[in-house]
Amino acid sequence: MVKIIIDYDECDGADCAECVDVCPMEILIIDGDKVVVQNKEDCSLCEVCMDVCPHEAIDVKED
Ligand code: SF4
Ligand code: SF4
Repeated sequence: MVKIIIDYDECDGADCAECVDVCPMEILIIDGDKVVVQNKEDCSLCEVCMDVCPHEAIDVKED
């Protein structure tokens, strides 16, 4: 399983959404003004969401 943790104290949500834009598996979506995780079992652990995040607010790891 994959664990995807978003630090909402650091995340800019819909004002940023860079991780949402780059995720090739559409795991990260905007819900209102927040980024939320869906279908995390489809995550390929590519880590591009972590690479683009300006605040290191998202962490993806094998659980
Ligand atoms: S690691 Fe890759 S597939 Fe998984 S949520 Fe991040 S960008 Fe999407
Ligand atoms: S890239 Fe980082 S700050 Fe931007 S929406 Fe994603 S988790 Fe939040």
